[in-house]
Amino acid sequence: MSITEPLHTALLAVAEACRVARAAQRNLKTLASLTKDDFSPVTLADFAAQAVVCLRLRAGLGEYALVAEESAGDLRDPARREIADAVTLAVKALWPNIDRAGVLAAIDEGNHDATASRYWTLDPIDGTKGFLRGGQYAVSLALIERGVVVAGVLGCPNLGLDFERSFDQPDPAGTLFYATRGGGAWCIPGLDVHATPHRLAITPGRPLGELRMCESVEAGHSRLDSASQVREFLQATGKPARLDSQCKYAVVARGQADAYLRLPTRRDYVEKIWDHAAGMLVAQEAGARVTDIDGRPLDFSLGAGLSANRGVVCAPPDLHPALLAAIARLES
Ligand code: AMP
Ligand code: MG
Repeated sequence: MSITEPLHTALLAVAEACRVARAAQRNLKTLASLTKDDFSPVTLADFAAQAVVCLRLRAGLGEYALVAEESAGDLRDPARREIADAVTLAVKALWPNIDRAGVLAAIDEGNHDATASRYWTLDPIDGTKGFLRGGQYAVSLALIERGVVVAGVLGCPNLGLDFERSFDQPDPAGTLFYATRGGGAWCIPGLDVHATPHRLAITPGRPLGELRMCESVEAGHSRLDSASQVREFLQATGKPARLDSQCKYAVVARGQADAYLRLPTRRDYVEKIWDHAAGMLVAQEAGARVTDIDGRPLDFSLGAGLSANRGVVCAPPDLHPALLAAIARLES
């Protein structure tokens, strides 16, 4: 398929942010000593990754609206000059002529309030805990038009093509995933936007008893005990794969797992759009059904939060109803 603008720009932006994040992950020890108690090293990488995405979107698209996770506010404090300089240095690897003010201004381009009819949403480093553990994380960028996710790009720097490789063992090549609504889901091996993409398509018909589930590593992000009960109800004996970030959507999209469950740990937690938009579209376009735990579609028309939804169930259409029913049993 031909890749048109703005998708090409989005792919470039995500691939570049992945390079910056990778470099930061390799230098975690140095970053930790620099950031002390002030900022975590991951925050520094978040800022740098967000800056390079913003700079690429600006260069490729001109005016654009972006709802992103980070803002540069604290970095403007003179006491944090050293951190702002470290972020600037990381960004200079890709944009050699930029200065500190340019980097801070770029980060703040992500401050849109999600009220426009068309905007991008970005999580510069999704799965920060995975990033710190040297495990899985993702750079996630999506385009939302009138409340509908129409394009999504997921950069997964530590996820390789080998399904046998443990998710805890970072792959040296990484993978890019992208989707457009109605245009399919695609996977690019490595982080090279010029490599040939492969189309992703889920094959239905896997028996429930052999369900391969994936879920968060963090028990604070998803009820792992409840997910285990769901597997019991379904008499699915397989061990779930645990990995951080929206890589879970990609893992279902490429048929490596049959389901991604995100079961709320708190009544009042509202999922963020940047934690789901790109991943959801990649999974849907590969043939998965994505809803919340009540079977409602994820509603991206309500600003930066998925305030009409609770949790996530992502699975092939033939398995999805049984998962919803098992979750309903948990709550009854
Ligand atoms: P995961 O890597 O799938 O565990 O999810 C990482 C994301 O979980 C982060 O980007 C956070 O925005 C989000 N998060 C933080 N607290 C919660 C919570 N209580 N419930 C669900 N997600 C959360
Ligand atoms: Mg996130």
